[in-house]
Amino acid sequence: MRKQKFRHSKKNQERGEKSAERRTQRAKHVYFFSADHTEGNAAMKNLLGGKGANLAEMARLGFPVPPGFSISTEACTYFFASGHAHPPDFESEVTVHINRVERVLGKKFGDPKNPLLFSVRSGARISMPGMMDTVLNLGLTDITVEGLSRASGSERFAYDSYRRFLQMFGNVVMGLEKDELEGVLEAKKRERGITRDDELDAADLRDVAERLKNRIEDLSGVSVPQDPLDQLWHAIDAVFKSWNTPRAITYRKIHKIPDEWGTAVTVQSMVFGNFGDDSGTGVCFSRNPATGEDTLYGEFLKNAQGEDVVAGIRTPKSIAELTHVFPECFVELRDIAKKLERHFRDLQDIEFTIERGKLWILQVRGGKRTPRAAVKIAVDLEKERLISKDEALLRVDPQSVEILFKPAFDPDVLRERFSKGLPASPGAAVGEVVFDPDEARSLSDDGHRVILVRTETSPDDIGGIAAAEGIVTSRGGMTSHAALVARGMGKPCVVGCEELMVSYRDEELRVGERVVKRGEWISIDGATGEVFFGKVPLVDSPVPEDLTLILSWADERRTLGVMANADTPEQARKARELGAEGIGLCRTEHMFFAEDRLPLFQQVILARDEKERRAALGGIKPLQKDDFIEIFRVMESLPVIIRFLDPPLHEFLPRDAKEIGELARELGIAPEEIQKKVEDLREANPMLGHRGSRLGLTYPEIYEMQAEAVLEAAAELTRNGISVIPKIMLPLIMSVGEFTLLEQRVREVARRVFREQKTSVPYTIGTMIEVPRACLRAGEIAKAAEFFSFGTNDLTQTTFGLSRDDSMRFLKDYLEKKIFGEDPFVSIDRYAVGELIKIGRDRGKETRPDLEVGICGEHGGDPASIEFCHEIGLDYVSCSPFRVPVARLAAAQAALRQETSEKGEAE
Ligand code: ADP
Ligand code: MG
Ligand code: MG
Repeated sequence: MRKQKFRHSKKNQERGEKSAERRTQRAKHVYFFSADHTEGNAAMKNLLGGKGANLAEMARLGFPVPPGFSISTEACTYFFASGHAHPPDFESEVTVHINRVERVLGKKFGDPKNPLLFSVRSGARISMPGMMDTVLNLGLTDITVEGLSRASGSERFAYDSYRRFLQMFGNVVMGLEKDELEGVLEAKKRERGITRDDELDAADLRDVAERLKNRIEDLSGVSVPQDPLDQLWHAIDAVFKSWNTPRAITYRKIHKIPDEWGTAVTVQSMVFGNFGDDSGTGVCFSRNPATGEDTLYGEFLKNAQGEDVVAGIRTPKSIAELTHVFPECFVELRDIAKKLERHFRDLQDIEFTIERGKLWILQVRGGKRTPRAAVKIAVDLEKERLISKDEALLRVDPQSVEILFKPAFDPDVLRERFSKGLPASPGAAVGEVVFDPDEARSLSDDGHRVILVRTETSPDDIGGIAAAEGIVTSRGGMTSHAALVARGMGKPCVVGCEELMVSYRDEELRVGERVVKRGEWISIDGATGEVFFGKVPLVDSPVPEDLTLILSWADERRTLGVMANADTPEQARKARELGAEGIGLCRTEHMFFAEDRLPLFQQVILARDEKERRAALGGIKPLQKDDFIEIFRVMESLPVIIRFLDPPLHEFLPRDAKEIGELARELGIAPEEIQKKVEDLREANPMLGHRGSRLGLTYPEIYEMQAEAVLEAAAELTRNGISVIPKIMLPLIMSVGEFTLLEQRVREVARRVFREQKTSVPYTIGTMIEVPRACLRAGEIAKAAEFFSFGTNDLTQTTFGLSRDDSMRFLKDYLEKKIFGEDPFVSIDRYAVGELIKIGRDRGKETRPDLEVGICGEHGGDPASIEFCHEIGLDYVSCSPFRVPVARLAAAQAALRQETSEKGEAE
């Protein structure tokens, strides 16, 4: 009994946590780390947050980490559950740990002569860069700042630290606007006629500190506490609370991080990069996170602290320049970066500070990277034998790779350069200029493509960044917030376009005399940092070699087939090039909509009887046959599933009087006649109206013409020695009777065509399952149908009773209120739609064991839906051509994950 219980509780915990340890130390909320003694490790991210766990790991391994302690996420969840109280004994536990740090460093917190200072840092299980808050230089008061000044021998340094503390405390703890407080510093710089903060001298900074205290009092009505311990408790609670700032909540929503996790708090002794020109601070990556190239990459600023580098206050220097300024530190840093990379077996993102020539490491985490870098690094690490092929496959987010072979700017088209900045995140983006992140959001909701332009971005802009096609900032470096977030999302981004004057007030962008206004189009190239006027045309780009390699590994691992939805020869060519194993859905509508055919098909619709109809259809057949010949050629030896006409007929007729008039003239009939036809065809609910196979039933000659076109094309190619595998798919079937009737007509046509052509081609006839009735009657339908393709778009609409287009307006409420976890039009709803698919598949296979079953529709390119299709053992998914590589990778990952979880269950 006991054993069982233990196993159960273990199962409920995330991997890597030591449940035994936690059981015996139930009350423990604080974990110490220092060079000599450390209580945590990298596996304890759930408890210590990513930052705290990795600091502990580094301390354990002997890296130069300033000592401190981490407060567990459980203290944070307790804090929220109890209405802002602390767990029992927690406060004395913190005091004990302050004393431990004091002993290690031989300094005392609050000591008026030589004060120990802390940073109070936030850290969730998964890093949420810049989303929560940190307070630096905590422990400074009017008294201790004097002590710091004397002990360090630098008054300037002491007051720079104090003003920084006041700004951060005022913002994070007291909730005042950042800009409001930064304004005090800006004002001082203006008065002194200087632009850089490191040009301010001791007297200036002393004055800034004084003014900040007054400003804080004016704004909030209270003053910053002068008792260090009081400061600390306020800061700890404020960091807890920063878990629930609107931007943190938005970030969690975008990245699907549970709200229940809470943040850990790391209290760490300070090291100072703002000491003077022998000090500095920076961020580096063990490899280039934009390209994946294996060179130390990053930026630093002399005489700076904390967020200075990422906030884009001064434009930082490239890490390579460290070799000139701090040559030993550069070598040591490069060495440490490599060691950390080997230890964690992945690209690392490292924060460091140099205090008077001594290097300190302040944070390490897995580095965010562009899709291009993700692919290259995975391949390179496999080559270096640091990870296996399977691990490499799992390292690449399938969703993200699409950008790598998505169209890029046409190099042959002359484009006019507007400006150039730093290439922060590659990819081509074209959109209307927008300055306001909220506006970017609402415009994008309305279907606009926008480029968000800011002087610099702040974590609050996250929603606007997510909505934009690309981002441009005039300030900030390659590790700025904008760059980091954009890379994480795989969005094109250009930062540090310094010549660009961004005016929010005038809603314009200016370089000298040249101006771009809000709403005008620009194009950006995130790989070169260029910004162009207008809409630059896009052309295809090839699949990069590294990705081709990863995809070949994926093909070895996946069991699910990947087909493409392609309607034209060009799309078919793209699909084949990207690795599709056939066409899972060739929609024939476009063959009627195309300019040269629409009038012909309009004649079909307006025909007064079957004879007229057949005559008009006769004109369309050769054109459609040519289309099929082309597609079959491109897809030689691979299956092509052709779906017969699906949309309701009224979609092919004009609506307004002017267009009706034109058509009437063209066809030589009375406008009234067309008007009447339009009226006749009007439906209350076209989605559930006269469409799909229902058209084939009413107008058999339409499907007969299509059958002739398909089979004649197939027969001709076969005679010429080209292997074709045609599969005819009847849409929106409700019952076996309906299917059989249509199927028999197709077979009749086939017999006639083959007789005429003196050859025969193996072909199959199947159906698209799009309504619940067909799923339930699948056993009967499979008596006649040779394959099923679940049309998951319509099946979702008909299962939910929701029209996709109309539900755009309110479905978001269901997602926000968490009634549905996912948009069912994006990811298959496993509970009902998925259940219907399983029923359909099972009943179908019972009748016809070799029934081939797949899905088509947008879900076919969605990794979560692909995983579902793999799990339930479908034969294939079919998705748009550009999603084919996504699907290949996602299918392999699904197979690997299933293997691991089955292994786990066996143990
Ligand atoms: P975030 O999660 O937003 O990166 P951090 O907790 O890492 O926030 O801290 C913000 C900044 O303060 C970082 O640049 C970090 O390097 C710096 N910082 C944090 N702790 C210390 C410290 N003990 N000494 C010096 N700088 C620190
Ligand atoms: Mg950090
Ligand atoms: Mg459909």
